[in-house]
Amino acid sequence: MTSSASSVVAARNLCLTYDTNDGPVHALSNVDLDVRKGDFVSFIGPSGCGKTTFLRVIADLERKSSGDITVNGMSPEEARKARAYGYVFQAAALYPWRTIEKNIALPLEIMGYDKNEQDKRIAQTLELVNLSGFEKKFPWQLSGGMQQRASIARALAFDADLLLMDEPFGALDEIVRDHLNEQLLKLWKRTNKTICFVTHSIPEAVYLSTKIVVMSPRPGRVTDVIESTLPTERPLGIRETPEFLEIAHRVREGLRAGHSYEE
Ligand code: ADP
Ligand code: MG
Repeated sequence: MTSSASSVVAARNLCLTYDTNDGPVHALSNVDLDVRKGDFVSFIGPSGCGKTTFLRVIADLERKSSGDITVNGMSPEEARKARAYGYVFQAAALYPWRTIEKNIALPLEIMGYDKNEQDKRIAQTLELVNLSGFEKKFPWQLSGGMQQRASIARALAFDADLLLMDEPFGALDEIVRDHLNEQLLKLWKRTNKTICFVTHSIPEAVYLSTKIVVMSPRPGRVTDVIESTLPTERPLGIRETPEFLEIAHRVREGLRAGHSYEE
């Protein structure tokens, strides 16, 4: 257990089975994984392989069936109470009747931060996602990419060391996504966060990650864990280098191997 002590997320033999009317669904089966401080970990795999379930277990939104999981050395429940993470959903999930600053303020209000502290954090996080000046706008006045950045700002507002992101850019077009990927990498480097990031896109996973977790469904399990050999400095052009393509190839192979497991 010494290795898990230094891990931000440590899973050992983690299993989660949903009971449904059609019988049990094995969403996670014997998952072993360590996410270390400062890692950028992507989870990639076909839909239904348990990516969202894994993030939800970390966030204490689902309970494991068996095995072990710790978040910052604590149980997920303790970590939630200690506000150990921020969560970014697939859709921006901003309240349409609240301005951008009021959307970011909402969780801070609930947690009882005073107005000065709220304003300070709103200004800081909007600056981090390049949205300074948009405080008074409503979500519908922003583009899809800007809305998603606002929802990242909201997740950053507690200044938790761990950020859980579930396909945050999945609904955006490729040009906007490229831009946000670049910005997210910069933000990650500047803030020293640990990030768990779910994606369907091989290039996105390879471009962003220090570690890529390849998953496959029925039952949901990890088929490969790839430690990236790419330098931390990553201009978008890195995606055409042989080193990048080699990692992308290995991800694709992992996905294919997982697929052949099915009928
Ligand atoms: P992914 O995010 O990789 O697409 P999920 O974690 O959402 O996968 O789902 C994994 C499996 O668990 C799927 O087969 C899905 O249908 C099932 N599942 C997810 N949530 C529930 C739930 N609340 N009740 C029953 N089955 C669920
Ligand atoms: Mg999902």
